[in-house]
Amino acid sequence: MYSGSILPFEKKVWLATPTMHGEEMKYISEAYDTNWMSTVGANINEVERIAAEKAEVKYAVALSCCTAALHLCVKLAGEKLYGKPAISHGALEGRRVFCSDMTFDATLNPVVYEGGIPIFIDTEAESWNMDPVALEKAFELYPDVRLVVSAELYGFPGRIDEIKRICEKHGALLIEDAAEAMGATVDGKQCGSFGDYAAISYNGNKMITGSSGGCLLTNSIEDANRARKWSTQAREAAAWYQHEEVGYNYRMSNVIAGVIRGQYPYLEEHLEQKKAVYERYREGLKGLPVEMNPITPGTSPNYWLSAMIIDSDYMCKQVRDDSTAIYIKEHGKTCPTEILEALSGINAEGRPIWKPMHMQPMYRMHEAVGKDGTLRCRTNAYIKGGVVDVGADIFRRGACLPSDNKMTAEEQEVVIEVIKRCFE
Ligand SMILES: *Cc1c(COP(=O)(O)O)cnc(C)c1O
Repeated sequence: MYSGSILPFEKKVWLATPTMHGEEMKYISEAYDTNWMSTVGANINEVERIAAEKAEVKYAVALSCCTAALHLCVKLAGEKLYGKPAISHGALEGRRVFCSDMTFDATLNPVVYEGGIPIFIDTEAESWNMDPVALEKAFELYPDVRLVVSAELYGFPGRIDEIKRICEKHGALLIEDAAEAMGATVDGKQCGSFGDYAAISYNGNKMITGSSGGCLLTNSIEDANRARKWSTQAREAAAWYQHEEVGYNYRMSNVIAGVIRGQYPYLEEHLEQKKAVYERYREGLKGLPVEMNPITPGTSPNYWLSAMIIDSDYMCKQVRDDSTAIYIKEHGKTCPTEILEALSGINAEGRPIWKPMHMQPMYRMHEAVGKDGTLRCRTNAYIKGGVVDVGADIFRRGACLPSDNKMTAEEQEVVIEVIKRCFE
């Protein structure tokens, strides 16, 4: 138990920041010295080899970010399901797609880029990930749907194996957004290996980073080659710039790839540090009416972000509109808004749980209609497994805690004490 006085940290304690080790510079220098300073080079080839090996898939395609990887996943899946779209159409034009609800919007933005209509599948209370029961219900309501995009939350996977089984049963393809789950496993299998297509992220706050970057993962060499071609402006094999389809400038830089190449040997170390952070929270918050991110049986998380939810009976009144939050302090009770303000008061960074997509203004309030009159988004396209809106409930009661792998045990003790005092 912490007994010192509580003063703001001189150096901010962050949610999650990059951790460099030195080897990154070696590979960046190599790129510089050999003048492979573009989107071709040994670092890119190595990142593709290592990423595929670590994720236990056959092929990885190195791209500028995970969002780009997800976009190309969506294009590959769309073409496989519905054929090559007309030049002015998206690959999913007017098609419904089942998507994770409580996630970063980058999970499903690419569905919308390609003209798809996201239908949000509620979160399972036991795992905080996509609810398989709600997904089954969704297939009953919309039997024509053939694509599911599912993300693993905060590096704590849910039942992605069950999601995959449901997809197979209904003849649907699965895109796995493993951006937050690099190194996590389900039944001993790496996250990123469950989807027909998957994406991982090297964004600055993820498990390892290139400052930016991402990979598309697949077991199909044709699909890997197609994604690689699209990512480099879709040039055809010809002496001049020959084009048969729309391209993108999505390829990873060889300099960024150098950083990622230097980071990969430290994935395990980062995971162990993040695990220690989670364990210290679990120990330190014992006795408070809170629960940490659930660990689903059979899974092994990467512990990317530690988060907690407050038991309903211990929630004080909290009201949020689209940009502000207020609360009324009650003795013995608290809420995420109070906790996040208290953390901010000691120069530590927390944040709310991802606000569910079905609560976002762009999906909540608008019915968007495509050029040809087809419905593109609708207000109530949100499917629950039971009666409770689980996503809204976790959002209301939950907060992500400072989870930086460089936070010291002493700093974390102060963070824990500040959380405890919110319950007084
Ligand atoms: C970080 C993140 C992304 C996007 O990754 P970028 O590499 O920044 O494009 C996508 N999905 C989820 C769930 C993420 O957390």
